[in-house]
Amino acid sequence: MIEDKNQQRTPLSELGEFGLIDHLTKNFKISKKSTIKGIGDDAAVLNFGKKNVVVTTDLLVEGVHFDLSYMPLKHLGYKAVVVNLSDVYAMNAHATQITVSIAVSNRFPLEALEELYAGIETAAKVYDIDVVGGDTTSSKSGLLISVTAIGEINSENAVYRNGAKPNDLLVVSGDIGGAYMGLQVLEREKEVFKVNPNSQPDLDKYTYIIERQLKPEARKDIIKLLNDLEVKPTAMIDISDGLSSEIMHLCTQSNVGCDLYENKIPLDPEVISTCEEFNIDSTTIALNGGEDYELLMTISQEDFPKIKANPSLTVIGFITEKAAGMHLVTRAETKIPIQAQGWNALNK
Ligand code: ADP
Ligand code: MG
Repeated sequence: MIEDKNQQRTPLSELGEFGLIDHLTKNFKISKKSTIKGIGDDAAVLNFGKKNVVVTTDLLVEGVHFDLSYMPLKHLGYKAVVVNLSDVYAMNAHATQITVSIAVSNRFPLEALEELYAGIETAAKVYDIDVVGGDTTSSKSGLLISVTAIGEINSENAVYRNGAKPNDLLVVSGDIGGAYMGLQVLEREKEVFKVNPNSQPDLDKYTYIIERQLKPEARKDIIKLLNDLEVKPTAMIDISDGLSSEIMHLCTQSNVGCDLYENKIPLDPEVISTCEEFNIDSTTIALNGGEDYELLMTISQEDFPKIKANPSLTVIGFITEKAAGMHLVTRAETKIPIQAQGWNALNK
């Protein structure tokens, strides 16, 4: 056994997820000419000639990232692929391959893993990527899935988190908050089921938000759309943790501030009605819910005419000087500082 000389015991919750990553990786220096972008963006970018290669990886753990009591394995396989592809698209790149690694306990029969892989296969078909490898091992508790996604991009087209400039427009694809509210409905039904296993939930009025939670899509279509419109965002990030935390990453890395308009945040009517039912503020959900896998980007004002008629893209604010800070402009036109409450996997 390696002797652990470090006697201090700092709880991980003191650092938070991003603090922990920073702390663990702060001594890693980039020494290879081929490493264009290392730790800190949605994906790493490597260069081996004319094309850049994009690499990203995510780990999903049973009980932390998914609950098999309402997550069908097929959907889980699909989602595990999608969350990775989303990080590739967030670089403005084309996803081309994935590897899939799993750790399984003997609680899972072959048929369960066949379901998981049926979902992986479907995602590979839908997003037109090859599954080229992985690893399989046993686990003492639960299921773990790690997917690594690889993509390609011409070097001049890569979009990072750090390119936003004052006066750029802050733009989001699709609508947000749905995945989180879908999870609230599923959690509630799980509790009802525990009390009364014969209850038949009527989930018809939650179809959209439940689908957002169980079968999210990565916005490959938005990357194509931006390309067709000849718009290259100045910065981009995917929304895995909630709008406020992603805006903070983007502004911090770009050294800018922003004004985000509460009344511009795109919400599906099902999100609004479910928030009312649960008595939760929909803006709070949009800012702090997670897992929507939409794209948040900044674009130059010159490009506004190209995107303004597009229903898939909504301008939600604009970039300011760093000194102005990051603010939410509320419906009552008061300005409040944006704070990341986000999804913090380490606090769960
Ligand atoms: P995302 O939410 O887009 O998947 P993360 O917040 O997980 O991004 O990661 C942010 C950055 O930190 C990425 O560049 C990622 O590769 C890197 N990173 C995350 N965890 C680790 C780790 N344990 N060791 C090294 N780098 C890491
Ligand atoms: Mg990301």
